[in-house]
Amino acid sequence: MAQNMAKKIERDRNKVVEAVPLLPVRDVVIFPYMVVPLLVGRLKSVNALEEAMLHDRLILICTQKDPKVEEPVPEDISGIGTLSEILQLLKLPDGTAKILVEGLRRMRVKGYLPSDRFFRVGVEDVAGGVGRTPELEALMRAVQEQFEKYVNINPRIPPEILGTLIGVDEPGRFADIIVGHLPVKLQDRQKLLEAVNPKERLETLFGVLKSELEILSLEDKIQKKVLTKIGKVQKDYYLNEQLKAIQEELGEKGESNDVEVLRKQIKEAKMPQDIEEKALKELERLKQLFPLSPETAVIRNYLDWLAGLPWSKETEDKIDIDKAEKILEEDHYGLKKVKERILEYLAVRKLVDRMKGPILCFVGPPGTGKTSVGKSIARSLGRKFIRVSLGGIRDEAEIRGHRRTYVGALPGRIIQSIRKAQSKNPVFVFDEIDKLGVDFRGDPSSALLEALDPEQNNSFSDNYLEVPFDLSKVMFITTANTLFPVPAALRDRLEVIEFPGYTDEEKLHIAQRFLIPKELEAHGLNKDNLEMSKPALLRIIHEYTKEAGVRNLEREIANICRKAAKNIARKDERSLKLRIAESNVPKYLGPVRFERSKKEQKKDIGVVTGLAWTEAGGDILLAEAVVIPGKGQLLLTGQMGEVMQESAKAALSYIRSRTGMLGVKKDFYKKYDIHIHVPMGAIPKDGPSAGITLATAMVSALTKKPVSPDIAMTGEITLRGRVLPVGGIKEKVLAAHRAEIKTIIMSSENKKDLEDVPKNIMKQIKFRFVKNMDDVMKIAGL
Ligand code: ADP
Repeated sequence: MAQNMAKKIERDRNKVVEAVPLLPVRDVVIFPYMVVPLLVGRLKSVNALEEAMLHDRLILICTQKDPKVEEPVPEDISGIGTLSEILQLLKLPDGTAKILVEGLRRMRVKGYLPSDRFFRVGVEDVAGGVGRTPELEALMRAVQEQFEKYVNINPRIPPEILGTLIGVDEPGRFADIIVGHLPVKLQDRQKLLEAVNPKERLETLFGVLKSELEILSLEDKIQKKVLTKIGKVQKDYYLNEQLKAIQEELGEKGESNDVEVLRKQIKEAKMPQDIEEKALKELERLKQLFPLSPETAVIRNYLDWLAGLPWSKETEDKIDIDKAEKILEEDHYGLKKVKERILEYLAVRKLVDRMKGPILCFVGPPGTGKTSVGKSIARSLGRKFIRVSLGGIRDEAEIRGHRRTYVGALPGRIIQSIRKAQSKNPVFVFDEIDKLGVDFRGDPSSALLEALDPEQNNSFSDNYLEVPFDLSKVMFITTANTLFPVPAALRDRLEVIEFPGYTDEEKLHIAQRFLIPKELEAHGLNKDNLEMSKPALLRIIHEYTKEAGVRNLEREIANICRKAAKNIARKDERSLKLRIAESNVPKYLGPVRFERSKKEQKKDIGVVTGLAWTEAGGDILLAEAVVIPGKGQLLLTGQMGEVMQESAKAALSYIRSRTGMLGVKKDFYKKYDIHIHVPMGAIPKDGPSAGITLATAMVSALTKKPVSPDIAMTGEITLRGRVLPVGGIKEKVLAAHRAEIKTIIMSSENKKDLEDVPKNIMKQIKFRFVKNMDDVMKIAGL
């Protein structure tokens, strides 16, 4: 039966046909050699099928130009279609039919014949060449190649299709078979059907195939991109395995050079054994990793740090007390007490090998030589010197480091500095421990404590290193301007050595012996290039600086050296000499910057001179009191701090309890207000030490008796009128001396603090030591 059918089809393929029923279809284009099932629903179409079945089963299938048209007229139907044979027809109960058709050949509609029940058309064959020219041959090959590619990357097309092309040597047929398997758009299909000339058809097909291929490969690319993410891990693994295999093949020598260098460095660093083991383990990990991966960089960096630390490098201590003394003298003028304390400290260190003593803390105003004494200590011990400023550090990680997992993590400043020094026993100065901050990022002082504590600093842990480092051989020195803000836990461990600030005389010596030579050298000058007279230096000290130390003085001297250097460079004469006399200081340094604090010239009621301590040294301060009609209020102005305001109140209460003895009217507070003002807004005024000054000013105002401006005083007052000792005595005395004060009143408990004051100043000032306010009143003449 099948054989019969095949024979019939072969006959029909070539049968001369002149008129056939027409089946318009909507969304397919039937090609010759194509076998397709179709569902036919429209009445006219079903009629056409019936008509065909009655005769020779032949029907022309043409595609509608617009598939949406429900009732097509001849104009809606393409003029070229495929003569097809109905292989099967199945009528469904709803009147529609299912058919299986096979395309036979292309035909053109010559014209529509009269018929009501269905379309009937006159047809003619379209002529297409069948011969094979070399050109067609080439085209066929090109199309075949493209099609093969297409089948290869399109998983939806079974590769067996390629087999059906074998032996097809008629170009037109060749093209039609391929078209049958391509997902081509309807219009393009129709175009391919209408391409009657095989050459034209093959060309169009080539174009369609090409663009299909492009789309497919793009899809492929996108898919691959999605897959690469997963793929990379596999690829890395694969490459690493290969790398390992290669390394094994080559033996140890083949290891990458970097790893070898690191291994050598780790061995040479002579770390404690367990740490070396850890380092070597990390090195193994490094070897396994893909060289360009980010993790490689992290591990390499880490190993670099481990290997770079001076695990067993240290300088040999040469504690020779005489030599140390010589060096300290060589580098610093004055500071007698400081030097003595340091020598004692060194002596003990020499006797006790590993001293778990307190940490030295140098306390004093800026520029008093704290850091540079630290440097001298390092020099006298033959140790390396490191300085880390803690000013403004709020983040614990700055001291203790960030964990390795952070991007760009580093060890903290302690470990960084130790590495830089390349010695595990340097002299390590922590500057400005009083400026250490605390906030949400942790408490840096706790990290500092751990580093400083001799009980635990033999295994200091840095977050980055993860392994302990021994800091026990480091000689720590801390510095601070005042101890007040230092956390108590830290303060307890410190052995305080005070740097009290210099007198004018001392500053002059320091300038002449140290600062000027140092600055001359730094500016490439020699001592014949600059001459500074003593009065000129004193003028700079008084009118251009206002400090306890010599930092600004050093800066001004540098300023002058720059001018001298400029002169020499401009005139190109090495031997030029710049002479600075007292009168021409402003020419080089500009207008005078500070008026000297001078004592009051005349006696005034309610005005009393006090002494203040600031971070920059001492100064005199005036307390003014006036009595005005009112209701016993105490007005305080001049930016007094809280403690100072409280001592003013205490002073007032003391006066009220002692009216009789002081000669003040008992009920003064009922009728009067007292206003106290402390002028000179630039100096921060706080602390209890102005207590007796405020009390004296009030009594002077109330009794209308003036106090001599030659007298200055400092001391805390209690409600019962006792005078308590206060701090900063040396600075205060120096300030009083500068202001030409003749008498200073202070608590008898402050007597011991005068030891630091230079002898010549002690001689010029009369000191009056008191126990209570009554004594003060007597001395003040109230
Ligand atoms: P600090 O650390 O107390 O703020 P520095 O140690 O930085 O002060 O000192 C500032 C400058 O003054 C340095 O150049 C230092 O050498 C110099 N200096 C301070 N005191 C003396 C001194 N007694 N003798 C010589 N130079 C000094």
